[in-house]
Amino acid sequence: MQIPLLQGPAVCSSLEALSKAAAECMRCPLGATRIRSVFSDGSPQAQIMLIGEGPGQQEDESGIPFVGRAGQLLTQMLASAGIDRQQDIYICNTVKCRPPQNRKPQASEMEACFPYLSGQIQNVQPKIIVLAGATAVQDILKTKQGITKIRGQWFEGPNGAKLMPIFHPSYLLRNPSQTEGSPKWLMWQDLQTVRKEAEAQGIQLHGTPSPFI
Ligand code: SF4
Repeated sequence: MQIPLLQGPAVCSSLEALSKAAAECMRCPLGATRIRSVFSDGSPQAQIMLIGEGPGQQEDESGIPFVGRAGQLLTQMLASAGIDRQQDIYICNTVKCRPPQNRKPQASEMEACFPYLSGQIQNVQPKIIVLAGATAVQDILKTKQGITKIRGQWFEGPNGAKLMPIFHPSYLLRNPSQTEGSPKWLMWQDLQTVRKEAEAQGIQLHGTPSPFI
């Protein structure tokens, strides 16, 4: 699968330039209602990238993706899989500005924001991409298949990367059961699969795996 190269008024090459452009961007209506744009967290040198849906209230206020309750759960689950949030992974979203009332981003908003995501992928060149939730799956894989059907499977990503859909952590907050076969249990399996793939590719991870469930 080929991700189109950066196009449009946000054309610029470095992550820093992209982040600055996003902070002033009005390419879609979300720019008018944001407090601040939410570009990324983690390490640009990481070889694993996680793409989520869009910023929520706490992300909008802080400018950092995945810092609310769902983000804290994600950080905890990554850590238990031996993936250090600050060193081993680059985290971003399909849209960089918060949709009002935390609604899903509209297709036109994701399309308008796609040059930023494309630029992030081209700059970071991850070997593994994890798509958290149905919105990110629709934006990148352009499939209507449900997340429950395709989570945990490997797909061919851009630039030869391996790409896996996983549940969005906010879905896990609504489904807290940890019994075998539950969404949380499946997420835990998927993150362990990601860790094993990273190890198989010789990617050095800084975390220490520990039991989560
Ligand atoms: S969501 Fe993306 S395209 Fe829309 S205003 Fe924000 S940075 Fe620009």
